[in-house]
Amino acid sequence: MSNKIWLSPPHLSGTEIEFVQDAFDKNWVTSLGENINEFEKGLQEFLKDDEVKVCVLNSATSAIHLALILLGVSLNDEVMTSTFSFVASANPIAYCGATPVFIDSEKETWNMCPVALKEAIEDRVSNGKKPKAIIVVHLYGMPAQMEEILEIANAYDIPVIEDAAEALGSKYKGKACGTFGRFGILSFNGNKIITTSGGGALVCHTQEDKDKAVFLSTQARDQAPHYQHSHIGYNYRMSNIVAGIGRGQMEVLNDRVKARRKIHDFYVEIFRDIEGVEVFSEPSEDYFSNHWLSAIIINPEITGKTREDLRLAFLEDNIESRPLWKPMHLQPVFADAPYYGTHVAEDLFDNGLCLPSGSNLSDEDRSRIQSVIRNVFS
Ligand SMILES: *Cc1c(COP(=O)(O)O)cnc(C)c1O
Repeated sequence: MSNKIWLSPPHLSGTEIEFVQDAFDKNWVTSLGENINEFEKGLQEFLKDDEVKVCVLNSATSAIHLALILLGVSLNDEVMTSTFSFVASANPIAYCGATPVFIDSEKETWNMCPVALKEAIEDRVSNGKKPKAIIVVHLYGMPAQMEEILEIANAYDIPVIEDAAEALGSKYKGKACGTFGRFGILSFNGNKIITTSGGGALVCHTQEDKDKAVFLSTQARDQAPHYQHSHIGYNYRMSNIVAGIGRGQMEVLNDRVKARRKIHDFYVEIFRDIEGVEVFSEPSEDYFSNHWLSAIIINPEITGKTREDLRLAFLEDNIESRPLWKPMHLQPVFADAPYYGTHVAEDLFDNGLCLPSGSNLSDEDRSRIQSVIRNVFS
């Protein structure tokens, strides 16, 4: 059997271990230290927004939870989010005892549809319940239509949280994803564009918000010689060891974005002459995607093939691929949650497939992938 080609494996730079070793050598191995400070600084510089203050945490899921807490989301509130996403966009809403309200995708970016969002807000408001927050996801690295979404959110004075877990390095109209909303979220999980083994970040816009995030993520300890607490806290801060991996990864982040974008071009080239298959691409020059995962939509009527035909053919050759996200409003766990839209996300789920997109794909991997595709669609 040939070696396994993964969908999106970690891709280390080799320098991570030096920063980790440094933390060991200095015995700064817990939740304070130079790696944390420098990783946060590196992210701030990368996001190229002078106002941005980054707080690194143990996961992006924790970052979303803290953002909701900082916005005062609590029991029986409603929070709007994209139905077409990974479950971690919605779970923290449930942690707060609030109800997720799921918004459909639009066809250009596959992200939150501004028309469905507006309809949903108007409907909820007319029922006497204004949503407490909107979580917008930039899926597979593709920026959402931030201008339209922010305009609607601002008109109703609803704060926006950007789930940019998949979109570090993506930009909309030249501005980094994760810096548009009141809060942004980044992930360094093992399959993301860079990894710290596991980790995340909360992107804030004021030192005050960052200080609150650090406070809440380190058990909310008041100033006192003894342990004194006036708030419920969490154990969500990133460790100085993990942040060392992040520092090593920051050195190659630009290269990783370039490599993933090249993989997207590779698929565009393969599918150029296969009618009925569309490679997910930026709708206009306003969008710059890191192309974290390359994805396609297969039209079964034109190709005579389904996404399962291709997925199983890949599997046969030990190549991992994966259907697009199953919409959250179809998930048993969220069966009772409200949904607004025209079933765009369902169609994406039925016909879409994510293709191997690791920045470390070899030439040999590429030719194996290419021959499976050619065989299926010949
Ligand atoms: C990976 C991911 C998350 C969660 O990130 P963790 O760091 O694993 O908690 C949240 N939202 C989206 C869209 C993701 O892809």
